[in-house]
Amino acid sequence: MFRISQYMRELAKAEKTGCYPQVCERQARGPVVIWNLIRRCNLTCKHCYALSADHDYVGELSLPEVFTVMDDLKGFGVPALILSGGEPLLRPDIFDISARAREMGFYTGLSTNGTLIDRPLAQRIAQAGFDYVGISLDGLKPTHDKFRRLDGAFDRSLAAVRFLGEFGVKVGLRFTMTAMNAHDLPNLLQLMKDEGANKFYFSHLNYAGRGNIHRDKDAHHQSTRAAMNLLFDRAWADAQAGCMDDYVSGNNDADGPFLLHWVRQHLPQWEAAMAERLTRWGGNASGQMVANIDNLGHVHPDTMWWHHDLGCVRERPFSEIWNDTSDPLMAGLKQHPRPVEGRCAGCKYLAICNGNTRVRAQQLTGNPWFEDPGCYLTDEEVGAASTPFEAPASRSSSSRTSSRITRSRSPETDHA
Ligand code: SF4
Repeated sequence: MFRISQYMRELAKAEKTGCYPQVCERQARGPVVIWNLIRRCNLTCKHCYALSADHDYVGELSLPEVFTVMDDLKGFGVPALILSGGEPLLRPDIFDISARAREMGFYTGLSTNGTLIDRPLAQRIAQAGFDYVGISLDGLKPTHDKFRRLDGAFDRSLAAVRFLGEFGVKVGLRFTMTAMNAHDLPNLLQLMKDEGANKFYFSHLNYAGRGNIHRDKDAHHQSTRAAMNLLFDRAWADAQAGCMDDYVSGNNDADGPFLLHWVRQHLPQWEAAMAERLTRWGGNASGQMVANIDNLGHVHPDTMWWHHDLGCVRERPFSEIWNDTSDPLMAGLKQHPRPVEGRCAGCKYLAICNGNTRVRAQQLTGNPWFEDPGCYLTDEEVGAASTPFEAPASRSSSSRTSSRITRSRSPETDHA
């Protein structure tokens, strides 16, 4: 996750004091775990990476199994659990899980489509003490309902934002941009302000699940640059005004170098300090400080790697699976610098971006170390030339992918 507002607040402080602030970030021992506790969902969104549907899935982790995993995660130094799905509120024991997570001292987030949250459920979520609730909105009503394939989904999700706000829950809007909804971004940012939401999470489209199927409709790079410039400008205005709303982005670590370009343009006196700051951030953390556990207990380098199975928590503790670098993908992800190829290898921002989101390269070319096709910086900006890629059939994937997962998550199966 790229914390735009945090950097903007630091810049605002630098402007006030004449000195870039020293930021001492506590590094957790373990990764943040995004945990897809249930695959069932009441919606079938077009860009869903989990390819969920509204029916039960057999073999999901039981409550005692979830608790056992939590004990291991705690011992491993995992600081935060983001409880997700599917729709996590469809899991009957979600509040047992969140209560234990809170008791154990995990930062606990909930990632939901919001359509099931009425006032009583909002009150229950508030009482459960979630640190943060993210609600997905993919545009204004016509766009969102089309994306979510449900008339009225927008109204229900917006009502959830309001109910949660009534009970003092920290709530944020989650937006995944594609060419089909990019036009709604300015209005959604205004909606965030109007509704008093505290956070805006901007997700670049990644190539997984239905996102992979629709990658030909991915927002083109100019549109991405415009969106990021808009977010940077809003976050900068907020930071100068002392507003603590948060703008964050995810799934494209070229956001770091692109922010550096923004700083060079608007506040060139802080470019060197920001370059140093972003290098300490270090870019993509998949397989390092971000992890995913799916509904069946399988561990993945992040939520976009469901087709790459590292092992199951039923057979080996998460802590063992995560440290096992016999898997070539995990070995590469943990390597520093990563063994990236093409223009990522020659990029002058590799230390900031860490080669970006490897799953896009793998999905498009079969080679997880190829340059990230989702990078929206020009060759001139990164100081390296793009490489034409070979067709996937002519390459051998260095990923040990799981045919079990690939088969079980085909859209044909889900929509049967
Ligand atoms: S070229 Fe590669 S390493 Fe450089 S910014 Fe783009 S994705 Fe990151």
